[in-house]
Amino acid sequence: MSTTAWQIGGRVWVSINKQWSPATITNVTSTEVSFASEYGQQCTLPRDSLNHDTVTQMHQTSIDSVDDMASLGDLHEAAILYNIYQRYTRDTIYTYIGSILSAVNPYKLIDGVYGVELMQSYMKRQLGDLPPHIYAIANEIYESMWRKRENQCALISGESGAGKTESTKFILSYLSAMSQQACPSAAGKYAVEAAILQSSPILEAFGNAKTVYNNNSSRFGKFILLNFAEAGNIIGGQITDYLLEKNRVVRQNPLERNFHVFYALLVGSDPAGKERLQLQGPESYHYLNQSGCVSDPTINDQQDFLHIREAFEIMQVPAQQFSDLMSVLAGILKVGNITFGKAGGAQVSDKSALEAAASCLSVESFRLSDALTQKFMKLRGEEITTPLTLEQAVDSRDSLSMALYANAFRWVLEKINVRIRGKGHFATAGVLDIFGFENFEINRFEQFNINFANEKLQEYFNKHIFSLEQHEYSKEGIDWADIDWVDNAECLNLIERKLGILDLLNEESRFPKGTDQSLLEKLHNSHKDNAFYIKPKVNNNKFGIRHYAGDVFYDVVGLLEKNRDSFRDDMLKVLKDTKSDFVYDLFAHMTLDEDTSSGGRAFKMDRRGGGAKKKATVSTQFKTSLHSLMTELGQANPYFVRCIKPNGEKVKDKFVPQMVLNQLKYSGMMETVRIRRSGYPVRRLFADFMFRYDVLGRSLGLEGKGEIEACRLIMASQDSSKKDWQIGKTKVQCMLTMQCIGAIYECMY
Ligand code: ATP
Ligand code: MG
Repeated sequence: MSTTAWQIGGRVWVSINKQWSPATITNVTSTEVSFASEYGQQCTLPRDSLNHDTVTQMHQTSIDSVDDMASLGDLHEAAILYNIYQRYTRDTIYTYIGSILSAVNPYKLIDGVYGVELMQSYMKRQLGDLPPHIYAIANEIYESMWRKRENQCALISGESGAGKTESTKFILSYLSAMSQQACPSAAGKYAVEAAILQSSPILEAFGNAKTVYNNNSSRFGKFILLNFAEAGNIIGGQITDYLLEKNRVVRQNPLERNFHVFYALLVGSDPAGKERLQLQGPESYHYLNQSGCVSDPTINDQQDFLHIREAFEIMQVPAQQFSDLMSVLAGILKVGNITFGKAGGAQVSDKSALEAAASCLSVESFRLSDALTQKFMKLRGEEITTPLTLEQAVDSRDSLSMALYANAFRWVLEKINVRIRGKGHFATAGVLDIFGFENFEINRFEQFNINFANEKLQEYFNKHIFSLEQHEYSKEGIDWADIDWVDNAECLNLIERKLGILDLLNEESRFPKGTDQSLLEKLHNSHKDNAFYIKPKVNNNKFGIRHYAGDVFYDVVGLLEKNRDSFRDDMLKVLKDTKSDFVYDLFAHMTLDEDTSSGGRAFKMDRRGGGAKKKATVSTQFKTSLHSLMTELGQANPYFVRCIKPNGEKVKDKFVPQMVLNQLKYSGMMETVRIRRSGYPVRRLFADFMFRYDVLGRSLGLEGKGEIEACRLIMASQDSSKKDWQIGKTKVQCMLTMQCIGAIYECMY
């Protein structure tokens, strides 16, 4: 930057604490220049220290901000961050990076940003025609099903509270609106679209909870697949869930809550319902009162209960079944209030809680009491009863509650899926709303699985954004500089290849004498030399993995138990002998061990198959479901939505630059901008291009010219330097700045 440019009011990038910040020059003296960063910092630098490493001029595109970050003149992290920041302060939360959408959570309702009218304006338009929006992505998904005759999917990612679930709902409502428009006769309460939309309040009630990160945090992952008929309407759908955090039923971190549905039931039931189930306020239940939070001003439990009930009606769940489901929820809360005392082994100390729980579940109270405090085993044909310790009794109580809840959740999802099931389809559109990468103070089995899922999704993202992009350019014969991107294949190998972490975890889980410690030893021994494995310097029960998004250390304590997920046969027998058909149905899919001599661990009989078969561990089940998800996604054309959380306090109008920068870094957004920028974000098949832009060639004498030549002449007439475009083998490829040609076109009509 030349010295003459030091003018008050000049816009620059200044390096503050080794990070580039957008700034304005506020004062210039003969020896110093002062800057005010847009993020609120001030700094003054001696004039003789000003050089390209400390201050650079800001490009006009950064000053103005742009809809698509690929068209930014300044290509560095700070510019991308500032572009997002500027738009955010103007309540413009959506920005493109090519066809990827970034969405900053505004934590407020912005006037006119959503709604039917706006949906209408995005219909039948091409991506990029109108300002960036989640509706534009949904529209592209919809239109592409027909244009490309291909399945489509949206992958929504971001950390907890970034807005994934809200974005998912916007896409679903847009697709539903398109569907209704295509086939209006099927509208109304009984339409499949209504059922798909109404699955949200139900799944959120049963699967979401208030956490410190998000008042409505999804504690499970979901993939919603919609089947479209050729006429353009939704004929059906299917929802797959991933890893419900069932531990939350029995304990929560301080200031967090249990799943919403418990509070909704207690607060929202009418007096007759409360009387029937003998319900009290949330403070009265151990499972709800341990965390110091039973309510939140942003959550209306009373109203939510009404919505849940209505949604179940739309799912066509009979009132009796809904009431049975509520009894099970009440039963779980009452099971949680059972306390134990010690006289020899553990004993139930409060008979009234026991009776209340048994009544909700329609089981014999004395049998429930026995199963909670004793363990039955058959050893060489002889029945043996062993008393449980106090701690074991509490564990058996809690594992009963978790099993009840997990099975109730499964039942609810099954009801939704039966309701929205449809026959056949022309193409599908899937939406994936899955937990983002997690790295807490203590990371356990859940974080391991969640981060494994994120590695798989990152692999998919890389494949589409980087590998396919490279492939596209070489296929088209376009000159193009390769971009370095972080390939996570080796990290995935460490986790899932033969004898990798998952294999060792499963092997140790099946081994009756296996312990968390023996697992840790095996992991260290097998992988300590792997570049993606970290053996901590001190012996602290942990092993680390170098994930694409950062290093995470996992605590092995409890790993095997969670992976085995065993449920004692004697307890299962009590539940299967219930007088309630509903409770019986919840457990009908679970089979009893033939031989419990191994302590009711992981070996189970598969009655349908006949022979002895190992029950799949939780991580194996998860890996299998993840692989089938990847197969499904592999057959679809993806759209990526990267949700961004602007602050940790869940408040509006607050943007913490460092926090956003971290998210941009590990979501691969920087590399995406670079690749988009060094490549050509706009690509149109020759015929498509001519159809759209031939008006620009009217004065160019294109008659008799071939399609390719015509495209070349049109582009040259717009940019004779040929800097911003190239003609490939099948497509015109150009920079977004060339979209001025699009703008001209729009003006003429
Ligand atoms: P988790 O991983 O914890 O499930 P998430 O990414 O699904 O988090 P959401 O539940 O979608 O996050 O969003 C958190 C909250 O932020 C919402 O309850 C809502 O209050 C607010 N929010 C998110 N997106 C928007 C939006 N586009 N407009 C207004 N508010 C929003
Ligand atoms: Mg969510």
